[in-house]
Amino acid sequence: MAAEIIDGRAIAAAIRSEVKAQVDELVRDHGVRPGLGVILVGDNPASRSYVTMKEKACAEAGIYSEEVHLPADASQEAVISAIGAYAANASIHAILVQLPLPDHIDEHAVLLSVPPAKDADGFHPFLVGELWSQGTADFIPCTPYGVLELLKRSDVPLVGARAVVIGRSNIVGKPVASLLLREHCTVTLCHSRTRDLPGVAREADILVVAIGRPKMVDASYIKPGATVIDVGISRAEDGSLVGDVDFESASQVAGKITPVPKGVGPMTIAMLLQNTVNAAARAAS
Ligand code: NDP
Repeated sequence: MAAEIIDGRAIAAAIRSEVKAQVDELVRDHGVRPGLGVILVGDNPASRSYVTMKEKACAEAGIYSEEVHLPADASQEAVISAIGAYAANASIHAILVQLPLPDHIDEHAVLLSVPPAKDADGFHPFLVGELWSQGTADFIPCTPYGVLELLKRSDVPLVGARAVVIGRSNIVGKPVASLLLREHCTVTLCHSRTRDLPGVAREADILVVAIGRPKMVDASYIKPGATVIDVGISRAEDGSLVGDVDFESASQVAGKITPVPKGVGPMTIAMLLQNTVNAAARAAS
């Protein structure tokens, strides 16, 4: 039987309309309009397009946004100084540094300079530590936050579920594992050295895949009835977007599955908006 499709576009639209209502309330009751400050370095077309999408989404939700666009040869000090200016600006509640940064800039040093109280992406080690040790943090990384919302809003049982996450990056795999652990899943975190990956994946009630290998995970990785969340986004030769999961075969075995596109992708921006509004609400209280 074909799996139920988890419609990320519809769930993201619902979150964006909830965010808009929260923005209206903050403006009406507290005179606070949430503000996002974006820093873009260089002219990477994909980064430019992501930033434009984020700014458009802010405008639609009533969130104020502004951008500092630095040239590709900008110094690390210039980037850190732009972050400092946003940190001191009371109308900016959340700061986003669009990644990747040019090679001559030390990304870790830049991310360390974003104050945890305004770190829209939740990448600062203080926030990472808070998430692992306290189970929550003021900002939760947007894509992992989106994965959790997809599961919750699709009524996927989490408590006691066996969850397998493939991919251990700081921006996706590790925070997804942390969030699922917080929700009382039993979590296994896999990577390129995992032995018998299909066998481990087949133990999962919830399988989250974030590896960047187009269509690698096929039906042989999936326990019948499992929920499959495909975070991967790659470009096929014809220019279309493909995930890490072979949707055609996997959807014959899974119980629920996200497509690519229109799965996890739209959730990332929705959760960025939610993080920004949460920060403004903290500032208003
Ligand atoms: P990274 O390249 O940082 O990490 C990839 C991870 O996958 C690593 O942990 C790596 O293992 C693991 N991996 C790679 N190949 C294999 C393999 N053959 N078997 C098992 N594990 C493997 O990627 P990201 O986490 O940044 O991104 C992953 C995917 O998610 C990409 O397609 C990216 O475009 C997409 N993405 C989508 C977002 C969205 O908004 N929907 C947001 C962010 C990312 P090891 O650590 O051992 O090298």
